[in-house]
Amino acid sequence: MQKKKGKGSLFIVSAPSGAGKTTLCKKLTSTLPHITHSVSYTTRAPRHGEVNDRDYTFISREEFRSMVNKSEFMEWANINGELYGTSKKRIEKLTRNGTDVILDIDTQGAMQLKKKYRGGVYIFVLPPSMEILKRRLKKRMTNSKEEIEKRLKRAVNEIKSYRKYDYVIINKKLNDALRELESIIISHRHGVNKVDTMWVKNKFLKQEEEHGSYFFAD
Ligand code: 5GP
Repeated sequence: MQKKKGKGSLFIVSAPSGAGKTTLCKKLTSTLPHITHSVSYTTRAPRHGEVNDRDYTFISREEFRSMVNKSEFMEWANINGELYGTSKKRIEKLTRNGTDVILDIDTQGAMQLKKKYRGGVYIFVLPPSMEILKRRLKKRMTNSKEEIEKRLKRAVNEIKSYRKYDYVIINKKLNDALRELESIIISHRHGVNKVDTMWVKNKFLKQEEEHGSYFFAD
């Protein structure tokens, strides 16, 4: 697509745990072209079925600390005692050739990026209701009541940040939410600042400049 200029954009998606953000982001990258998911680094243990370097890059706390000290993260956060971070190098590599990147990160990380990085698109995903959020968390977690309570408290705290985002999606039906997310990305791609001015010039304006007329001889 010649008319698109420059690097890919960052789409930052946050949501309380249980809003269905991960499924939504995975579905998006499999249906929409030219967008990919950035693989974060984490100190938490892999869950059943998770693959290293696909879902996360699983590293030790020492390795994580060393990356922090070397300023290798664009942002990082401590979530429930585990560390999560987005690698600058990975994002640079992905966006360099114009690929858009979706970052599935928490509100702390999103707010760090917002302060440092201009041009990202910030999207918040909400569950349809508190009742549904509770139900989803209970179903998902075999953990204790206290653990669920802790997650719910954290979820409500995350929701308090929604106004700092550019867009809000309510994930009631996955396919509707997916369509809304795709629409946001597609609209952004068609922003006027995404158009390569040289492409427009060469394609439409050069003839007039060079020949003073649209009806010059072929
Ligand atoms: P989980 O452990 O359930 O995969 O993820 C827990 C939370 O960490 C989710 O809200 C997820 O969005 C967030 N997360 C994943 N990767 C990163 C990251 O690189 N940075 C930040 N700030 N949050 C992340």
